[in-house]
Amino acid sequence: MGTRDMMPSFELYQPDTLEAALDLLGRFGEDGWALAGGNDSFDWFKDRVKRPRYVVDLTGIEALKGIRETADGGVEIGALTTLTEIERSDVIRSRFGVLAEAASKVASPQIRNTGTIGGNLCQDARCWYYRYGVHCYRAGGNTCYADTPEGQNREHCLWGADRCVAVSPSDTAPAMVVLDARMVVAGPNGEREVPAEQFFIGPSIDITRMTVLEPGELLTAIRIPPSWAGARFYFEKVADRNVWDFPLVNIAAAMRVNGNVIEDARFAAGAVQCTPRRLTVVEEVVRGQPRSEDLARLAGQSAVRGATPLNYNHFKIPLLQNLVMRAVRDA
Ligand SMILES: Cc1cc2nc3c(=O)[nH]c(=O)nc-3n(C[C@H](O)[C@H](O)[C@H](O)COP(=O)(O)OP(=O)(O)OC[C@H]3O[C@@H](n4cnc5c(N)ncnc54)[C@H](O)[C@@H]3O)c2cc1C
Repeated sequence: MGTRDMMPSFELYQPDTLEAALDLLGRFGEDGWALAGGNDSFDWFKDRVKRPRYVVDLTGIEALKGIRETADGGVEIGALTTLTEIERSDVIRSRFGVLAEAASKVASPQIRNTGTIGGNLCQDARCWYYRYGVHCYRAGGNTCYADTPEGQNREHCLWGADRCVAVSPSDTAPAMVVLDARMVVAGPNGEREVPAEQFFIGPSIDITRMTVLEPGELLTAIRIPPSWAGARFYFEKVADRNVWDFPLVNIAAAMRVNGNVIEDARFAAGAVQCTPRRLTVVEEVVRGQPRSEDLARLAGQSAVRGATPLNYNHFKIPLLQNLVMRAVRDA
């Protein structure tokens, strides 16, 4: 641990093409680090918990920036697009409003001005112990300090604990899941597309990563298909403070409503497990049903089935239940 809040030295590379960035990251392997807006990365560096020798700054790669409408009526968002651009984009606001709303709830205006969508989706876990440099399971040790009798686990998971109890901290990730977004991943073996729901991985798959990205791979873009364009959306985040704070729980929903009947729906919650949690049970409960208080209540109850709270996060159960109720009622 030792020195904190002071930037250590590293070799900085500033490529202006994706190919050059991939080449550099491929050469540096485990010693390399991809840098976007730096809001997550600089904390790691300054606290000296992660010490990459080579940092590859992606912000000079123009091809990875911007929001483009696609021929099929969807959009493609470059991974280096800032959260402010997404929040303000007319096309995202008018057609995929749940994402604009989610982006607008991240951190603070300053962080959204520099923070990128790629960095938001690829950010690491926010568990206190892990961030502080404690040698926990996720850091290669053999204890989860948050999951001990005295462990501070108010922010931690309700599902998916497997040695680690950290949650997915991203506000935009659940919105990507409900929009059926596809993540474009580039690496030494070319390009592949991964559905948003499969992009995020839990500790049972690999405790050292939060996404499917292998060392040397980059998220280059997010493709949102037209399927949910113009649907009824809902996004709500509950945090201890209204700005500059991570979600305790967030909910993203998309619904197709005909008359008063919910024809189809997608629900996903963040900060309740290590990946955004798709609430398929809720979707099944509401599909084909007329919207009502009773349905909203039933959906809320079904959302929390099987939740296994830790010592200090029982409050997340009624919180998630209420957020789902409100989403069904107010989307
Ligand atoms: C005080 C504070 C409050 C915050 N509050 C919130 C919040 O409320 N909600 C929320 O969702 N987030 C929050 N964050 C987290 C995060 O900093 C921001 O969400 C921001 O969007 C991160 O983007 P960045 O471009 O700055 O990422 P960076 O720090 O540059 O990168 C983050 C991680 O992603 C990797 N990465 C970046 N881009 C790519 C790419 N294209 N391909 C592969 N890997 C990549 C980096 O290697 C790094 O590991 C907060 C951060 C801070 C410091």
